[in-house]
Amino acid sequence: MTTTSASALDFTAIDVETANSSRASLCAVGLTRVRDGQVVEQMSSLVVPPQGHDEFAPRNVDIHGITAAAVADAPSWEQLYPQVMAFIGEDPLVAHNAPFDRSVIQQVSSVYDLDWPTSPWFDTLPLARALLTLGSYSLPFVAKALDLPELDHHEASADALQAARILLALSARAGVSALADLPAGAPGYRPVPRSGASTPGGAPTPALRAPGDFSGLTATDVLAGESVVFTGKLLLSTRAEAQALVEHFGGAAQGSVMRTTTILVAGDLDPRSLRPGVQLSRKLEKAMDLAAKGQPIEVWTEDDFHQRLDVGRDQLEAATREQRVQANPSWLPEHVITQAQALDSSTSYQQWLRAALRHPEGKPKGGGSCIRCGEGLVVDGYWLFLERRVCSGDCNEKLKDKAKREWAKLGIERPAAPSYSSSWGRR
Ligand SMILES: [Zn+2]
Repeated sequence: MTTTSASALDFTAIDVETANSSRASLCAVGLTRVRDGQVVEQMSSLVVPPQGHDEFAPRNVDIHGITAAAVADAPSWEQLYPQVMAFIGEDPLVAHNAPFDRSVIQQVSSVYDLDWPTSPWFDTLPLARALLTLGSYSLPFVAKALDLPELDHHEASADALQAARILLALSARAGVSALADLPAGAPGYRPVPRSGASTPGGAPTPALRAPGDFSGLTATDVLAGESVVFTGKLLLSTRAEAQALVEHFGGAAQGSVMRTTTILVAGDLDPRSLRPGVQLSRKLEKAMDLAAKGQPIEVWTEDDFHQRLDVGRDQLEAATREQRVQANPSWLPEHVITQAQALDSSTSYQQWLRAALRHPEGKPKGGGSCIRCGEGLVVDGYWLFLERRVCSGDCNEKLKDKAKREWAKLGIERPAAPSYSSSWGRR
């Protein structure tokens, strides 16, 4: 029997698709299990998104082709969760642009009040940016640069398999044979200084960093150090708004592509057509050429741009919340102790948890603020959080964690959390 550890290339790669811009709108999930550097098992499923998050936006349907009709008979995340958690087991999770997949899994779990996976996350995107110089770091381009076979991009099971293969190929390039030597959950998208600056006319071979050199992979400001140019018609914002967003996230907006440009956002580029071998506009081909010659410039679709900024916004919001909480470290309300002491531990885990964590006065009537971070409560938010008077999935999870530690300290008995080991044949 082999146990999973960070001392080998043992992990589960994951990919998710969403129905709309809500992170809770999970509509497909794919998983690939790797043992000792070999793909050993896969699972995938369509998912019917939770109520209130179940509208299929045309932009999303264009990208992955999944519709409301396609998920009509699919399980909900609540139904699928035990199977997925059993598949993941104790594995570290690997994803390409992991902050997005992680956030989707957390937010959709929060809607059903399911515990977040506790696995550490590893991101192949900053790793690829550190080790390769490409015109695009989307899965198909990274796969091509690593000589991996092309798969059906934006199909969750194919993308999970591709993320697994990319992690293995990048580890081999970096001379790393254990996940522990990779940066855990690297959240950053800071442009990593790339070696071999400009080699005009040189062969378009990816520039490599020294093995094991992952410096500069973490950042709080998603666009710090980036110089961004917009081209084509933007769908979600005006050029001026987009440029203001760039500045807000620490980047510099430029009017046209220069030697210092690091990101070219192509507004009218169909995300499906940004893949190796497809004919691009002259401007985009020129940018791809510059990248091939060593200039650290990337082509992003408008979707890429907004997704990175969403991740940045998440990080900024989380940081702001944590600052407020640090100012009030003893925030755990007394009612979660007194209620827990009075509860019968023979009920179900979920029932017990809900009764223990509920605010004694229930949902606030207009206004109110988060018992953890003080954020104002949105009264049409999730019913569960409102009943507890927490503002977000994040504060909900922290409330559960802190309460569990406190209950354990006080010896308060509670039902055991469900265990998800099943017939999924872990080895
Ligand atoms: Zn809060």
